[in-house]
Amino acid sequence: MGLEHFDVLILGAGLSGIDAAHHLQKHCPQKSYVILEQRQRIGGTWDLFRYPGIRSDSDMLTMGYSFRPWTNPKAIAPGEDIRNYVTATARDEGIDRHIRFSHRVLRASWSSRDAAWTVSALRQEPGGREEPVIITCNFLLSCAGYYRYSAGYLPDFPEIGRFTGRVVHPQAWPEDLDYAGKRVIVIGSGATAVTLLPAMAKTAGHVTMLQRSPTYIVSMPEQDKITNFLRRFMPAAWAYKLGRWKNVAYMMYVYQFAQCFPNFVKTGLIKKTSKQLGSEYDVATHFTPRYNPWNQRLCLVPDGDLFQAIKAGRASVVTDQIERFTEKGIRLQSGEELQADIIVTATGLVLQAVGGAELEVDGRHVDLGKTLAYKGVLLSGVPNLASVFGYINASWTLKADLICAYVCRLLNLMDRKGARQVTPRNGREEAVAPFVQKFMPGYIERSVANWPKQGAKAPWRVYQNYLRDVWSLKWSPVDNPALEFSSPTEDSAKTGFETARQQTA
Ligand SMILES: Cc1cc2nc3c(=O)[nH]c(=O)nc-3n(C[C@H](O)[C@H](O)[C@H](O)COP(=O)(O)OP(=O)(O)OC[C@H]3O[C@@H](n4cnc5c(N)ncnc54)[C@H](O)[C@@H]3O)c2cc1C
Repeated sequence: MGLEHFDVLILGAGLSGIDAAHHLQKHCPQKSYVILEQRQRIGGTWDLFRYPGIRSDSDMLTMGYSFRPWTNPKAIAPGEDIRNYVTATARDEGIDRHIRFSHRVLRASWSSRDAAWTVSALRQEPGGREEPVIITCNFLLSCAGYYRYSAGYLPDFPEIGRFTGRVVHPQAWPEDLDYAGKRVIVIGSGATAVTLLPAMAKTAGHVTMLQRSPTYIVSMPEQDKITNFLRRFMPAAWAYKLGRWKNVAYMMYVYQFAQCFPNFVKTGLIKKTSKQLGSEYDVATHFTPRYNPWNQRLCLVPDGDLFQAIKAGRASVVTDQIERFTEKGIRLQSGEELQADIIVTATGLVLQAVGGAELEVDGRHVDLGKTLAYKGVLLSGVPNLASVFGYINASWTLKADLICAYVCRLLNLMDRKGARQVTPRNGREEAVAPFVQKFMPGYIERSVANWPKQGAKAPWRVYQNYLRDVWSLKWSPVDNPALEFSSPTEDSAKTGFETARQQTA
């Protein structure tokens, strides 16, 4: 088997993978690269999720790429439009030619002797047969998202097998599912459930959202009127830039305000919900969360579509606990039984880092939970590996853009130094916090222990603050005492394990 070699291997052809390829082509044009993608199409999340109503829950002015204006008048955009945007970016920039589809990466092993990763993948042939593929690269850039693709999270619901109707998970939506006129229960209260409710209620007999506890729901206009107005007078790129900064500033203001005055913000949000649903509605039970705003994500609904579906009587919310499934539906702890033809388990994701690939450095398994994240991008003790993890309180792409540009600066610095490897060394810095802080929805709480940790101070902090990251990743020098630049020496090449510290000027 002849081994192919690339300077950079990008894992995943979603929003971030295409972002990374754009930055590499622009800032490191001399570098060869390949993208390995397990699916047959570009788009990641926006290709995988096909449930009714699938849309962004943050605005596309900040979720679009910094380098490609989002020109669609809808700022809260349908999944298909997002997929088309990502695909068009890849096509227009010739990135699609670098993608190897149907390649699932299983393992990456770093050799300090060779200053290279050996990446093992399985390529799925048209007949379904899987062939092993091995590729080597100098730098591995994980753009594999943050959750398991093979299946979503399904709690152990008692007696789920007794239900005689259909049970569906939004991560694997059946193309043939006909729910017109049917009674539907959607279990969950997150972004997926609040999207599904109004979308399915358009044709279903009735849709009930069954939640254990309420979530903050905020209505936002689907269209950004200010940016759409600006587009009439100036080039699309300018209007996009202005709209983007307006929304960044607004989001940061709202987030910081909510952190400083949680009770004030809580009261305001609940008042707004009451106004949408009318004074008769039991907002205290169904829309008053136990947590403070932003301790779990706020759910956004475009033009109050969820509230309208409830007011029209086509949808309802039940706040209770599941006792067990029955033949006809779900029996609740309150004693009530909800009947359904279809039950949708919008119960979330299973968190997964680096696309579930096993990592090794010089023959030793890397336990991600024991590493420290350097600027939220690199990992302590792991050479030449970066990964993209976006914001949880703002659009993912804002951080993906910053990380991709930072990795290019790092690669160029390595070239200038003549160093073939870079390894973050945490020295005496210890883990003091999980990768994600002050934000603990179920899917993060379940797995965050296995993710890299944060230290007490920069550069070992993972910020959820765009301006701080602009400073940390874009403006501050890449060179840092915590980064060890090195190359294999003659000796280490012989012995096969030593890395020699690069003597930098
Ligand atoms: C339903 C839903 C709605 C969301 N809405 C928003 C939103 O409105 N705003 C927002 O900012 N964020 C949102 N997110 C977060 C969303 O995931 C990001 O916006 C963004 O799509 C992440 O892009 P990505 O390319 O980093 O990861 P993904 O979109 O997850 O893409 C990862 C790619 O890597 C591939 N891959 C993974 N593992 C492997 C492997 N082992 N081998 C080969 N290929 C692999 C996958 O097939 C996929 O193509 C949402 C997430 C979900 C699930």
